[in-house]
Amino acid sequence: MNYLQDARQHVLQQIQRACEHAQRAPETVQLLAVSKTHPSESLREMYAAGQRAFGENYLQEALDKIEALHDLEIEWHFIGHVQRNKTKHLAEKFDWVHGVDRLIIAERLSNQRLQDQSDLNICLQVNIDGQDSKDGCAPDEVAELVTQISQLAKIKLRGLMVIPAPDNTAVFVDAKALFDAVKEKHAHPEHWDTLSMGMSGDLDAAIAAGSTMVRVGTALFGKRDTVEKK
Ligand SMILES: *Cc1c(COP(=O)(O)O)cnc(C)c1O
Repeated sequence: MNYLQDARQHVLQQIQRACEHAQRAPETVQLLAVSKTHPSESLREMYAAGQRAFGENYLQEALDKIEALHDLEIEWHFIGHVQRNKTKHLAEKFDWVHGVDRLIIAERLSNQRLQDQSDLNICLQVNIDGQDSKDGCAPDEVAELVTQISQLAKIKLRGLMVIPAPDNTAVFVDAKALFDAVKEKHAHPEHWDTLSMGMSGDLDAAIAAGSTMVRVGTALFGKRDTVEKK
């Protein structure tokens, strides 16, 4: 086994153990491979190891990889901050957008998704622990946003996405409670199935609290040594 295959097996085993611990079935937690800053060849290798869902943060970098890897059946997730003037590419090129935190962004994505494309999957990003510097809507805005966004034509509103401060994993439980509480506001509650939370350093706690999708970069691809830019 090469390094990336090996790393993926380790992460899958960690997910499995966390699920057993939480008395959950392992298939209830999906692994999203966060590949920002890593070259297309690394994604191709991870794909060969069996990985299909990849998450990217920076639009231009992601578009280059989508182009370079168009021969593969990758499910592309955008997990970065969504800028209002960048929604067209997100609507057309991605399968999922996790960082939606305002109605206007969801409306633009719905309008810009092409008619012959399937509905765009999105998660609503919530600033669950009230960090000043963070993107995401406030927890008390979520119910109203779910009501509104779940009615948009080309959008499939799948759930919530949170990025708590490091070491603040206790709030994963709050995110799960909010996720459960707002389901009834959804125009299509059967679509509400995704709680995107947990990264390399805190995926055990996230799974214990009810995460259905962990976004893992470092534990899969190693440390990111390139300088990250927006
Ligand atoms: C970079 C990133 C991750 C992955 O973080 P790791 O600690 O490398 O696993 C997950 N989610 C988001 C939103 C990120 O930006």
